[in-house]
Amino acid sequence: MRLLLVEDDEMIAETVQGAMRRAGYAIDWAEDGRAAELSLGNGVYDLVLLDLGLPKKDGIDVLNAYRKGGGAAPVIILTARDAVDERIRGLDAGADDYLIKPFDLDELAARVRALLRRRTGQKQPVYAHGELTLDPAAHEVTKSGEPLPLVPREFALLQALIEEPTRVFTKSELEEKLYGWGEEVGSNTIEVHVHSLRRKIGADQVVTVRGVGYRLKRC
Ligand code: CA
Repeated sequence: MRLLLVEDDEMIAETVQGAMRRAGYAIDWAEDGRAAELSLGNGVYDLVLLDLGLPKKDGIDVLNAYRKGGGAAPVIILTARDAVDERIRGLDAGADDYLIKPFDLDELAARVRALLRRRTGQKQPVYAHGELTLDPAAHEVTKSGEPLPLVPREFALLQALIEEPTRVFTKSELEEKLYGWGEEVGSNTIEVHVHSLRRKIGADQVVTVRGVGYRLKRC
């Protein structure tokens, strides 16, 4: 899962990025409205965290343009406590949720999970596929009921696969889901993560589709 954070306050940006990375998401940071538009034009985001008071282009305008252009990723707006009008305009412009600054990082993470769940049509908070379960909130994976300790990238990889268990992902799609800008991605990085994930969850659980990519085992 890859998120875009649009926020001109560097302190908030650092904190939010740190929290989201620890939760296993890839996250990019755009620090003004114009940078946000450029990033959204790439269309790779699963969710957007959008501050409204931004240099160069107002957050509401960014959101309007994004929705008009067919951008469908869920958007959470980040607003000040007294900015009721702003929140209403944001929701009317197509935001899915809002948080009032200063917000609690655990609450932010919970709202992100809820919206991503809705986006993937997942009603249950825990994904289940064959013997595997993955709980994004608790950051837990089990196989046949036994907990499996995964590092964040392995967890993010399995989450990507289990959210769309019949889909074959190319390496570059998985790289996009696992890495933000400026993070070094080696040419065999995904193979390495797949290898270590297979060692933990069972080699047969992740299937290589020759010449295309990877998917979960059918069940
Ligand atoms: Ca701001």
